[in-house]
Amino acid sequence: MRIIDHFISGGTGTATGARTHQVWNPSTGEVQAQVALGDKALLDRAVENAKKVQPQWAQTNPQRRARVMFRYKELIEANMEELARLLSSEHGKVIDDAKGDIQRGLEVIEYACGIPAVQMGQYTGGAGPGIDVYSMRQPLGIGAGITPFNFPAMIPMWMFGMAISAGNAFILKPSERDPSVPVRLAELFLEAGAPEGLLQVVHGDKEMVDAILDHPDIAGVSFVGSSDIAHYVYQRGVAAGKRVQAMGGAKNHGIVMPDADLDQVVNDLTGAAFGSAGERCMALPVVVPVGEDTAERLREKLIPAIRALRVGVSSDPDAHYGPVVTPEHKQRVEHWIDTAEQEGAEIVIDGRGFSLQGHENGFYVGPTLIDRVTPQMKSYQEEIFGPVLQIVRANDFEEAVRLPSEHQYGNGVAIFTRNGHAAREFAARVNVGMVGINVPIPVPVSYHSFGGWKRSAFGDTNQYGTEGLKFWTKVKTVTQRWPDGSPTGENAFVIPTMG
Ligand code: NAD
Repeated sequence: MRIIDHFISGGTGTATGARTHQVWNPSTGEVQAQVALGDKALLDRAVENAKKVQPQWAQTNPQRRARVMFRYKELIEANMEELARLLSSEHGKVIDDAKGDIQRGLEVIEYACGIPAVQMGQYTGGAGPGIDVYSMRQPLGIGAGITPFNFPAMIPMWMFGMAISAGNAFILKPSERDPSVPVRLAELFLEAGAPEGLLQVVHGDKEMVDAILDHPDIAGVSFVGSSDIAHYVYQRGVAAGKRVQAMGGAKNHGIVMPDADLDQVVNDLTGAAFGSAGERCMALPVVVPVGEDTAERLREKLIPAIRALRVGVSSDPDAHYGPVVTPEHKQRVEHWIDTAEQEGAEIVIDGRGFSLQGHENGFYVGPTLIDRVTPQMKSYQEEIFGPVLQIVRANDFEEAVRLPSEHQYGNGVAIFTRNGHAAREFAARVNVGMVGINVPIPVPVSYHSFGGWKRSAFGDTNQYGTEGLKFWTKVKTVTQRWPDGSPTGENAFVIPTMG
C-alpha cells in the first residue's frame, strides 16, 4: 500500500513511528493509501529545520520573496490539471470544483506577489522636534497551519501564502483525509526557489495538533475546521502564549424576498447547496423564503431542479457533485436527515440510501430537500455538511434577519432581492461575518479577507488580505532623534575615504 509521507526540509522518507491513517477513494469506496501520522519528535525536527532557514528568509528583501511567489504561481498553473485530479481522487469533489479549490488559493498567492507594497511600513516625519517615528511589520518567526479536509489546496494557501511572503517559516498540518495535495504544494514551492525547510508538511491527528499547540518555538497558529475543535485549539494555543486564529463551522442562510428572481435563485441554490456535496463552509444549506407565497413558488421550482442533479464519480465531467469524503461522514449526513424526519420536518426529496450504479461502495448521498424546518429543531441548529437543503419559512423581513442573526454560527449569509433598500438594511443589521447580495457564496476576493462571526471563528483576525498580514506579523515602532552636531576631538566621526 502506498504511504503518503511527511515533507520535512525538502525531503520525503521521513516517516517515523508506526501509526498511519487510511486515505479513501470516496468514489469507489476503496482505501487507496495510508498516510503517516507524525509525533512530537517529528515536529521537533521540522521546527529545527525552520529555525535554520527563517532568519535569513526574513532578511531577504521583499522583492526577492515576491519573486519566489511569482514563480510559485506559474508552477501551480502549469500543474493545475495534475493537482486537480489528485485532489478530486482523495476528496471526492468533481474536477471543476477541485480546480476552483486550487484557483481560490492561487489568488492569495497572487496577492502575496505584491508583498513589497502590502508589508510596507508607516512613517511620520517631525513627530516632535527632530523626531521621526516609523513602524514596520516584522514576521512572527515560525507559523503553523492546521487545515480541514474540505479545501485541501485553498486553505493551506490562504495561510502559508501570507505567512511565508511576510518572512515566516511555515509548518502545515493538513487533514489526514486528503493529504496528498498539500505535499505537492510544498514540493512545488521548493521548485519555485524557496529554501528547504521554509514550507514543511507534517501529517497527523490530535497528537500532532497538540504538539504544535504546545511547541514553544511556534509563534502563531492558524486553524480551520469544526467549531468544537477550533475552540479547543484557540484556548490551548492562547494558553501557551501563541497568537491563534481558529475558524469553525457554519450554517449559512439564503434569504429569498418576495421580489427575488426565483429562476436565478433556484439556479444559485442548486450550486450553493449541493456543489461539492455540500462540504463547503460557505455552502447555503438553509433557504429562508419570506412569506408563504414565496415559499410555495420557490418549492415548486426547486423540486424539479434538485431532481435533475446528477451525482457521479468525481472524475465524471457531467456530474454536478461526487461522493462525500468518508463512510463515517455519509452516515453522519444520513443521521441528520433521520433526525429532521423524527423532529417533524417534511423530507421532500430523500437522498438516503443512494447508490451509484457500478460504484455501489462509494460514499454517495443523494440530493435532499427538507421543508417545514423550524429553529427549534436540532437538525437546523447543527451543521450537516452534506448535500441537504433545508427550507425555513419566515413570515416577514424581520424574522428573516433574526434567523441567521440568532444562529450559533455566523460565517456567511445571502439575500436575494431586487430591492436595494431591503438589501442594504439586511447587510447592515445581520449578525454574520460575510454577506452576499444576490451572490450565493460570498467568499471575499483575496485582497479583502475571510472570516465569520460567533462560533464560526475564534480570535480576532481574518484570513488573508491585510488581515492575514496582520496576523502573521507584529508591529515594531521606532522613535528616532538625531541630535545636531558631531563629536569633536578624538571621538570625531570621520567619513571613510577610498584608498
Ligand atoms: P475537523 O475539525 O474534523 O478537522 C480539522 C483539523 O483538525 C484537521 O487537520 C484534523 O486533523 C484536526 N483534528 C481533528 N480532530 C482533532 C482533535 N480532536 N484535536 C485536535 N485536532 C483535531 O474538520 P473537517 O471535518 O476536516 O472539516 C470540516 C469542518 O471545517 C466543517 O465544520 C466546516 O464548516 C469547517 N470549515 C470552516 C471554514 C471556515 O473558514 N470557517 C472553512 C472550511 C471548513
